[in-house]
Amino acid sequence: MKAFEYNTNPGRVVFGSGSIKKLPEEVKRLNKSKPLLLSTPQQAEQVKALEPILKNASITPAGLYSNATMHTPTHVTDEALVYANKCGADCVISFGGGSTTGLGKAISIRTGLEHISIPTTYAGSEMTPILGETAEGKKTTRSDPKILPGTVIYDVDFTMTLPESLSATSGVNAIAHAVEALYARNTNPIMNLLALEGTKALAESLPIIVNSPRDQDARSKAQYGAWLCAMCLGSVGMSLHHKLCHTLGGSFNMPHAETHTIVLPHAIAYNAPKIPETMKKLADVLPESDGDAIKGLNVLLTKLKVKRGLKDFGMKEEDVDKAAEIAVGNPYWNPRDIEKEPLRETIRRCWAGEEAKADL
Ligand code: NAD
Repeated sequence: MKAFEYNTNPGRVVFGSGSIKKLPEEVKRLNKSKPLLLSTPQQAEQVKALEPILKNASITPAGLYSNATMHTPTHVTDEALVYANKCGADCVISFGGGSTTGLGKAISIRTGLEHISIPTTYAGSEMTPILGETAEGKKTTRSDPKILPGTVIYDVDFTMTLPESLSATSGVNAIAHAVEALYARNTNPIMNLLALEGTKALAESLPIIVNSPRDQDARSKAQYGAWLCAMCLGSVGMSLHHKLCHTLGGSFNMPHAETHTIVLPHAIAYNAPKIPETMKKLADVLPESDGDAIKGLNVLLTKLKVKRGLKDFGMKEEDVDKAAEIAVGNPYWNPRDIEKEPLRETIRRCWAGEEAKADL
């Protein structure tokens, strides 16, 4: 067995249908009594379900700030901070996907307020010490153990409303964390176990969710898978796939989960010649792969009925060259060297929506 180092992130997880009823206990465990609730405008009604649960346990929320926004713009954080201060909040409860978790992290790292996260997508931000923020159109990312939410409540009941298409792409976003953890430079056997189990759980449950969005068993299995994949994201380094998605999101305004979904099979195809063992392990947990991980992913994406081309989201063909320039101009570790021509062709295939092939 190869030598390795293993770091575990602290944090408490409360998992299961109905576990939201334990929210008051979790607030009291932290010796807090005036939580500020956070959500996006789209989930402003849904988050109100927390108010009676808290009030029944004699906890009155300090307030609700429902303007969380994708990529955590700092002007939104500043506004939320003024509000948190004005209403005397002593902790924050983020309720939603990565956008709302990001706002909770941004407030928590600036103020030291404890952060309880209630994720309602599969993006996985709640398990990472990473915060990406945007100011004046530029996204910067930082990592600090203090960014990690101290408590996470995974209650499947709040994922039942996640639209089928976002369930599919958000789930593939989670699989991408696991796949890159398998071949990370600082991977370890524990992360491999989590990555394979998480991928298997998602690959089996997502096609069921797309056809039967109210299937609670499938939703629960997907949330379990997403948690494991998120632990991978929070523990080891990411490479080509995540860097490419970061470029496409940050510089070309491509949507987060949808971009991860389009890029994943192509990024793996690019790396395939250098990661034969990972490809085999991955194939073993992807249904109908016939021993070929890229085929397994292509089959999964077909079953999920997702869009396959960046052009479907407004990216222009001339941006392919620009994206390739940015991607090669920003060095990072990857199992295969970043070579301009094959990378450009990889991005072109993502743009055009072609099936991934390991022939570059
Ligand atoms: P999101 O949080 O932007 O949510 C997308 C939309 O779905 C929003 O309108 C939201 O209100 C809605 N939604 C969420 N859950 C719902 C539910 N159960 N029912 C109905 N509607 C629901 O999307 P996301 O993909 O979860 O997060 C993307 C953001 O998170 C990006 O900014 C990305 O950079 C960040 N992110 C950060 C990390 C990290 O480790 N720092 C990890 C993953 C994602």
